[in-house]
Amino acid sequence: MSKSAWNTIIEPFKIKSVEPLGFTDPKEREEILRQAHYNIFKIPADKVLIDLLTDSGTAAMSAEQWGALMRGDESYAGARSFFVFEKTVRDLTGYREILPVHQGRAAERILFGFVGGKGKVIPANTHFDTTRANVEVSGAEALDLPVPEAWNFHTGGSFKGDMDCEALEKVLKSKGKSVPLVILTITNNSLGGQPVSMKNIKEVSRICKKYRVPLFLDAARFAENAYFIKLREQCYASKTPRAIAQEMFSHADGCLMSAKKDGLVNMGGFLAMNDPHWAQKAREIEIIGEGFPTYGGLAGRDLEAMSQGLQEVLDEEYLKYRIRSVEYLGEGLQEHGVPIVEPPGGHAVYVNAKEFLGHIPPERFPAQALVCALYLEAGIRTVEIGSLMFGKRNNGKFIPAKMELLRLAVPRRVYTQSHIDFVIEVFGRLAKKREKIQGLKIVEASPILTHFTAKLAPV
Ligand SMILES: *Cc1c(COP(=O)(O)O)cnc(C)c1O
Repeated sequence: MSKSAWNTIIEPFKIKSVEPLGFTDPKEREEILRQAHYNIFKIPADKVLIDLLTDSGTAAMSAEQWGALMRGDESYAGARSFFVFEKTVRDLTGYREILPVHQGRAAERILFGFVGGKGKVIPANTHFDTTRANVEVSGAEALDLPVPEAWNFHTGGSFKGDMDCEALEKVLKSKGKSVPLVILTITNNSLGGQPVSMKNIKEVSRICKKYRVPLFLDAARFAENAYFIKLREQCYASKTPRAIAQEMFSHADGCLMSAKKDGLVNMGGFLAMNDPHWAQKAREIEIIGEGFPTYGGLAGRDLEAMSQGLQEVLDEEYLKYRIRSVEYLGEGLQEHGVPIVEPPGGHAVYVNAKEFLGHIPPERFPAQALVCALYLEAGIRTVEIGSLMFGKRNNGKFIPAKMELLRLAVPRRVYTQSHIDFVIEVFGRLAKKREKIQGLKIVEASPILTHFTAKLAPV
């Protein structure tokens, strides 16, 4: 789909600054894993060879971004850097009210701090885990309405991130009054990093307008989503990613943004919207938790780097390399017979551990077992998206998640094709000894965002 005339993926940049990888031997890794209680969030990063834990906040900044840091204006109020940032976000999104925040979940906390609450329902194509947590902490219900094919991991499909419009209309018809807003996560991170089509964005927008409910984009990967639209939605082939992104934002009333993804920065985010009354409420909450609304928990230099990153991410050569290199990883795994969620997402490839490790039942966390096996084999760090993250305990009874996935998230501009080739080679080896991989049990866990802190042990 995104093939070019050449087979080799050329990273569209030269490397100016490098850092060493963390080489370890198998014995060391065994001990590290034990000490981390089989929770890879507790492994020191310098004991990781290739870190595919997340694409969040792990991007390499450009020379222009490093240069922009020096232009940062650190004034408490009304810093020049804020106005630079505000202009960039306004030009991109078209929204009038722009609130910087330190990362995406701060935007969520602020927004649901006044639109959430008991009795409210927040529908989305799929809520990201922190979004769901912030909705639920407010007392509201987070309702996922993905299209049914999102759950079929075997069929391709261009826009499996879409929202089920029929289901949305039903919800708005029956309990529209308790729905303060609707969220479209672009791309749909929790269900395979699949894109949402412009057609779907428009349709969701139309339904929201009909019931007078605002639509917000969870725009963490807006540029990747825009590029998928360019590749896969006919009438957008000749449009620039920027024009497509602008159109996406134009169909919504606001957005939440974790700039640690497509902002190409290591920390940052924003909340943007048109409604001045909501913006005022948001600023009141922001001042308490994040800081004055012209810096929102960030340094002036962060705002400069974010502003630059939001422009660079829409570069077509960059997006071509980005989407193609993730797709290449997916193809490589499939060549070794590793079942993945098809098609590969924009920022990550998701391995279907339920199939790959069919001998491990959900209550023994097959995806987490695979995460641990991959680290043990070669020091590669990934993350579980399955029953450890989404499983529930109800009166002592375990309710597994619908899926058992291992996510290989690719940091932006960090690894080269040879790193990716190495990951593929390691999977080839694991595929040959998959029956030997054993399940895990939880020894200790907290009720909210369990996966970050849980302690596990092999069974
Ligand atoms: C990362 C992410 C968030 C939360 O952002 P943080 O910057 O990690 O707080 C919210 N939504 C989506 C879709 C994300 O990927």
